[in-house]
Amino acid sequence: MSAIEYALPPGATTGHLWQLRVAGEIRVQTVDWVAPLPEGLVADYSTPDGDVYVSQVLVPLGCDRCPSTTNHIAQGRWGDELTLICIRCGAAWNPRWSGGDVEASRTLLKQIIVESGFTPGTGVGDTVEEIRDELQADLWTPSRADQQLANDLVLGVHGDPGPEAIAQCMKSTLDWQLRSLRFSEALARTVGMLRAPGGEADPEAQNLLDFVMDLARTIAAMAPDRLRHEPEAGPGTH
Ligand SMILES: [Zn+2]
Repeated sequence: MSAIEYALPPGATTGHLWQLRVAGEIRVQTVDWVAPLPEGLVADYSTPDGDVYVSQVLVPLGCDRCPSTTNHIAQGRWGDELTLICIRCGAAWNPRWSGGDVEASRTLLKQIIVESGFTPGTGVGDTVEEIRDELQADLWTPSRADQQLANDLVLGVHGDPGPEAIAQCMKSTLDWQLRSLRFSEALARTVGMLRAPGGEADPEAQNLLDFVMDLARTIAAMAPDRLRHEPEAGPGTH
């Protein structure tokens, strides 16, 4: 593995909890054990008995719980292992590849932070508040699946949801084409904040939870004719 050293972006602190939604797939280099070696591949190494070969391949980091490989939220503080949150089903996990190398995971999180170009406090990037504002400005329209999810949240968790309860509600409306990227993202960010170390006692995470539950109540109360009935247009909806 290369030993690239990434530097903390100017203006950021090591205590900041980063949450960055990665468009598309996150692909990592890992070893693929193949036997026999496919034609055209060059083995880096072969075992002494010659039955198994190792080659370097790029694989997407797929969700721990559902088949999704795209639009994960990358989370962690500078120097942490990478945590991923699936915006489809709400799963949060520490991906393992490259033989479970923790240092590779820390380096990948730093790389994602640096390459995002995002500096906390600059107002750049997605936040749950922005998602609420976009709803109020009619920049996105919740779907019937969003409303079903919002109802599950409002009725099912009695205003005091933990991250697993939110994720369970997300799993109940897994039809991705009918769920909105924005609402799913808001929920996944909340799950991530609550699942971070100390998150459930963190006032910022609790504020976010209050905010997203307000958003859910707003969506749950919308008249059916204001809801989207078609699959969401645009990237990241498949
Ligand atoms: Zn998932």
